[in-house]
Amino acid sequence: MLRISKEHVTDILDKNNVPAAYCCDGDTVVFETRDCYDGSITSEERPYGDKPDPLENPATGPLYINGAKPGDVLKVEILDIVVANQGIMRTSPTAGAFHEAYDTKTARIFPIVNEQVQFDDKLTLTIDPMIGVIGTAPSGEGILTETPDYHGGNMDCNKIVKGSTLYLPVGTEGALLSMGDLHALMGDGEVMICGLEISGEVTVRVSVLKNCILPTPFLVSRGKASTIQSAKTLDEAGKMAATKMFEFLSVVLHGNIVNAGMLMSLKSDMAVCQVVDPLKTVRVELPLEIFEAYGYQIP
Ligand code: CA
Ligand code: CA
Repeated sequence: MLRISKEHVTDILDKNNVPAAYCCDGDTVVFETRDCYDGSITSEERPYGDKPDPLENPATGPLYINGAKPGDVLKVEILDIVVANQGIMRTSPTAGAFHEAYDTKTARIFPIVNEQVQFDDKLTLTIDPMIGVIGTAPSGEGILTETPDYHGGNMDCNKIVKGSTLYLPVGTEGALLSMGDLHALMGDGEVMICGLEISGEVTVRVSVLKNCILPTPFLVSRGKASTIQSAKTLDEAGKMAATKMFEFLSVVLHGNIVNAGMLMSLKSDMAVCQVVDPLKTVRVELPLEIFEAYGYQIP
């Protein structure tokens, strides 16, 4: 099986990046990923890290998928996510919803044993690994891996998990898929500034869809389909994600925008993915049964 090692990392998703590997439509590929601190934090005593110039949110790749052309959609099935045996969190005095509470960076390293994290002597948490950064090369200017946008990127959506399928736009020949920034666990919003940051490896199957109408980035996960949109404000991102789903549902309902709107109000859920990145991310979810009821099969 094709494997891309964590030596191949970048902090920008860009159509000029040199491919780390080439594969065919339908191939299965393993991405080895570094943690978002670029492996720089190895001790709680040194929260500022041990590397002089760590990459911010390094993403492994890019993978060139033969046959992917601008305008296509890349289907990425997340077959497996394996995380390392310890994760890291760090407070920030400059970023996050309540950063004013901290005057310095404090790091904690959490061992993971049998998918359990001992948070403190009172509380044990079960991990739920997810991918923070996953995207194709944008059609326009390159975008740093700290930023989510129309190409995917740092969406920090905690529903991008094993068993889910993500649909991303193809902006350049070969799509150039990259990913990294795994979290062993993260709540909606990622409010402090980070998840349980961790290295690991992700196994995906990649397929190229031609003439595909899905509103990317689009996710099928745990019985729900979601549009995922990022913008300067949550208001804007929420409106964009809802509108994308409304327009898509209207097509599924053969142009019946009244019913599509009513159904959205009845059954769609709006959720905040993250509020801590340069653009904020919101998803709007609809149960898959709705598409099935109207005979629409998500490709
Ligand atoms: Ca992130
Ligand atoms: Ca992260």
